[in-house]
Amino acid sequence: MNDVVNAQMFEALFNQSPSPVSVVRADAPAFTIVAVNDVYVKRSYLNKDQILNKPSFEVYKPWDEASAEQFKLLREGLMQAVYDKQQINLPTLSFEAPAKDGEAGSRSWWQIQISPVLDTAGEVEYLMCVTRNVTEQEQVRKQAEESREKEQELNEELQVINEELAATNEELTSTIEELSYSQERLSRLNNELEERITARTAALTASERRYKTILNTLPQIAWTTTLQGDVSFFNQRWYEYTGLSVEQSKATGWEDVIHPDDLEYSVRTYRDIVATKRPGEYELREKGTDGIYRWHLIRVQPIRNEFGDIEHWIGTATDIDSIKQLQQQKDDFISIASHELKTPITSLKASLQLMDKVKDNPTSDMMPRLILQSRKSIQRVSVLIEDLLNVSRLQQGEVQLNKSTFIVSQLLNACCNPIAIMGKQKIKIDGEVELQVCADEHRIDQVVTNLVNNAVKYAPESEFITLCIEKDFDMVKVSVSDNGPGVSEDKIPHLFDRYYRVDSSGYHASGLGLGLYISAEIIKRHGGEIGVDSKIGKGSTFWFTLPLIEDYD
Ligand code: ADP
Repeated sequence: MNDVVNAQMFEALFNQSPSPVSVVRADAPAFTIVAVNDVYVKRSYLNKDQILNKPSFEVYKPWDEASAEQFKLLREGLMQAVYDKQQINLPTLSFEAPAKDGEAGSRSWWQIQISPVLDTAGEVEYLMCVTRNVTEQEQVRKQAEESREKEQELNEELQVINEELAATNEELTSTIEELSYSQERLSRLNNELEERITARTAALTASERRYKTILNTLPQIAWTTTLQGDVSFFNQRWYEYTGLSVEQSKATGWEDVIHPDDLEYSVRTYRDIVATKRPGEYELREKGTDGIYRWHLIRVQPIRNEFGDIEHWIGTATDIDSIKQLQQQKDDFISIASHELKTPITSLKASLQLMDKVKDNPTSDMMPRLILQSRKSIQRVSVLIEDLLNVSRLQQGEVQLNKSTFIVSQLLNACCNPIAIMGKQKIKIDGEVELQVCADEHRIDQVVTNLVNNAVKYAPESEFITLCIEKDFDMVKVSVSDNGPGVSEDKIPHLFDRYYRVDSSGYHASGLGLGLYISAEIIKRHGGEIGVDSKIGKGSTFWFTLPLIEDYD
């Protein structure tokens, strides 16, 4: 084959190559382009004149800084091939490929193989650059790399999430642990609380039972009320005194028992006391099973728990009726005593005034009457004062008994004579007239005089007043009977009380209500007894006993 044929064959091969191929002169740094195949021309969008015999780095200028770096590698590769006289495979390079007019350039990747072409002297004359477009592979690789990176990123994110999740999990576990510990503690506390409540309820029930037992043993009426004022308990005495059943007590309770005149006052006072949260007391009348209202002292007191809070109120009602009656009697006594003293003194005053008028006529027949009247008045005042003194002496235990032995009937005769002379009733002395006693004659005289005077005073219509002396075992019993109006049964127990008068409202019969009291005290001091048998409309027998002296001659 000749050279022409060879050249034609080479050109054909050169041009048929599917990859762009260029041949450059080995004259660094120009590396002038001497030949390019058709594909090269086609890809470059230039014509051959614009390419051939031009320094290669003038045909293609770096697009930007990044492609300048690629051109630098290409130049170094060319120089290396000249120097080494060996084929150089450049790493994949990326260029901004020039575009057709009006079209944007696109990025492409190329693998360039630089092969030195030697001259006959063995020197590198040309360099042949076979370029292979690896854009597709590169893009696939890039995508794979990107997806790997993404995967990596995702993995990292996942890792972070996982770690966070693990931390959260850990936190959650410890929170759950704490929670279960707290729950355990809570249930333990709950149990303790329940136990305490049970114990407290039991203690409360026991203490409630205890105080209810105590309240039931009280002789007074007692009850408890809630903070709202409802009665929660009545003691035994309440039911005994009022006769109400449990149901009746719950239903109307107090309203049935309190005197209508005291009801409003007591409700108001009770409310006032409760409002002060302090103990208080007031008085009212309460009706018993006998239908009689008796004065009671009401005391109410708050009951507090260990924290000082009021849990309920406790109340008691104490019967003060006898004290009230005594107070009333005392009040009556003072007004009666004044009246009793005033009457003889007024009469004395009148007698003295009259005597003053007739003083110049001593022979006036008025004078003896006036003197007698004055004496009587003075006597009356002395008796009253004597009674009062006796009461105070007796109370203070100052009465001394001067005992002597005497015949009872003689004493009765002696003290009845003056009364018999003055009064209109007939006085009889009956019985065992020889009986003797050892007693204070003066004091027994006082007792008999009082009994006979009472018969005169309170049984004025009675024709006879009978005194009787009897032997009653080892005692001498002296009785004074009349056929007067008598004393009603309910009054009898009080007759010997201090200041007691059956008809305390009127003054139709004078007296301080002391005579029988003094008499009873004197008899008691002698070791005897005093009493009365009386019936309304039938008369009364007042009696006393004294120890008998048996062996007398
Ligand atoms: P006074 O000094 O007021 O007479 P007493 O203590 O002697 O007081 O008597 C007390 C009360 O007993 C009198 O108020 C009277 O009502 C009553 N009383 C005493 N004796 C008789 C009697 N013989 N008949 C009826 N009532 C009597």
